[in-house]
Amino acid sequence: MQGLMQDRPLLISSLIEHAATFHPDTEIVSRLPEGPTHRTTWRGLRDRARQVAQAMGALGIRPGDRVGTLAWNSYRHLALYYGVSGMGAVLHTVNPRLFPEQIDYIINHAEDQVLFFDIGFAPLVAQLAPRLKSVRAFVAMTDRAHMPAIEVPNLLCFEELLDAQSGDYVWPEFDEKSASSLCYTSGTTGNPKGVLYSHRSTVLHTLMELAPDTFGISSSETVLLIVPMFHANAWGTPYAAAMVGAKLVLPGPHLDGQSVYNLMRDERCTFSQGVPTVWLMLFQYLDAHPQIDPREIGVKRIGIGGAAVSRAVLERFERDFGAEVVQGWGMTETSPIGVISKLLPKHAELDGDALLKVKLKQGRGVWGVDLKIVDAAGQTLPWDGVAYGHLHVRGPWICSGYFRGEGGEVLDAEGYFPTGDVATIDPDGYLQLVDRAKDVIKSGGEWISSIDVENAACSHPGLLEAAVIGLPHPKWQERPLLVAVKRPGAEVDAASVLAHLGERIAKWWLPDDVVFVDSLPHTATGKLLKTKLREQFKDHRLPTA
Ligand code: ADP
Repeated sequence: MQGLMQDRPLLISSLIEHAATFHPDTEIVSRLPEGPTHRTTWRGLRDRARQVAQAMGALGIRPGDRVGTLAWNSYRHLALYYGVSGMGAVLHTVNPRLFPEQIDYIINHAEDQVLFFDIGFAPLVAQLAPRLKSVRAFVAMTDRAHMPAIEVPNLLCFEELLDAQSGDYVWPEFDEKSASSLCYTSGTTGNPKGVLYSHRSTVLHTLMELAPDTFGISSSETVLLIVPMFHANAWGTPYAAAMVGAKLVLPGPHLDGQSVYNLMRDERCTFSQGVPTVWLMLFQYLDAHPQIDPREIGVKRIGIGGAAVSRAVLERFERDFGAEVVQGWGMTETSPIGVISKLLPKHAELDGDALLKVKLKQGRGVWGVDLKIVDAAGQTLPWDGVAYGHLHVRGPWICSGYFRGEGGEVLDAEGYFPTGDVATIDPDGYLQLVDRAKDVIKSGGEWISSIDVENAACSHPGLLEAAVIGLPHPKWQERPLLVAVKRPGAEVDAASVLAHLGERIAKWWLPDDVVFVDSLPHTATGKLLKTKLREQFKDHRLPTA
């Protein structure tokens, strides 16, 4: 027997209409690439999004066509999020930090018809344009006064394109399983692969994100969205903020510590999201300005994901900002939220290191995501917090395959997606990431978690950042090398780092050597670029080898 409830499709356009109807005057604040701070409201944004949808029609874009963006977080990018997906086309957010050859590959692979870009990327667009075979129009996301002087065919001005539309537009209704947006993984090995989200997956993921035990965003919140809108839909927050009508603050390209701090303070942000590297930039700014008291902001929660949260980062937010850190684990393929770290009532009894241990785990499963860890033969492993295995996930916002079938059949026999991560899961369902399978260090038949060693190293007061890689070893197969960046002005040597680690990790996990560098390489999404480090140190001789 079928239920008798209405069959309304879950569409992204419903989010912006809700925000405009019930939170019309709540602000969206953007620091523009042109410099100034721009203010609009959810109603203003909805009107702009409708004009985007009409402009798509004027440019000959049909449902299912891909429309590319090379842009930072701003109200213009947000209008594209709603206008392009809302009219039935697919918003393809391209990561501008990728190598030009990868961007070229991605845009051609996606067959983007129109490319929207921030003026800061004009030189890149001019360089790429001759090779972008499918792109029929290039739209500079600015007004007439700031149009870049570049030679590309059919160069249009964003504000003029939209101003030419009446805004009198009714969103179409279509199948909720239709594709809404496309995002390529950064492809540290091989070519980037496209993850194609649907309206349904996006709306369900948004509902999950708003729950109090996940990110708990509400209409009383002011959200500073630092994670870029080209990185896994900015963790879904552009949609979540609209669903509850939260005030949204968008930093544009201004991600240095001072800009982030000032924006957070001036807009009185209560919640902010970003990868660990942006927070390190913020801390460096605060280190250089000790007279600043970050408690003046009143920020309540900081969402961190994309790489492990170290003890140093967690403690600094708690101590100096009075803020709770909410860690999440996920990936482009998981929309991206897979697990979120929140304490359970029973943890109220804990304090000190015992509490910290729980807080530093990546998090617990959220409704909608099934988790399992398996051994090399695919056998399910117990949730005892000790057994570690390959993490597989399943759910309505987890990808079922890549765009155009790249990578072939990816799901396991039970329909789970293999994440490429290695993890433990404890009896309470907390997942702890051991490593990416390709980064884990195999020493004497056992595995060393580079993440754990890095976290322990980062709690050394003289270190800013640390990476651990495995180097070949005649006896043990691989042994760890620690590559570290000193805090400016700090006096640190290898012996003090090893002594510090000796008190925190198992003896056989201790790196065989420590090297200091000026900076560490990062991927386009802010993770340590271990492939590059392994290449850089491939001839390094460990003293024990
Ligand atoms: P990329 O395109 O660089 O792979 P993703 O954001 O999709 O970008 O990366 C996903 C990966 O990031 C995960 O598979 C995991 O290895 C790592 N990751 C994400 N969140 C965390 C976290 N909280 N702790 C440790 N690693 C994380």
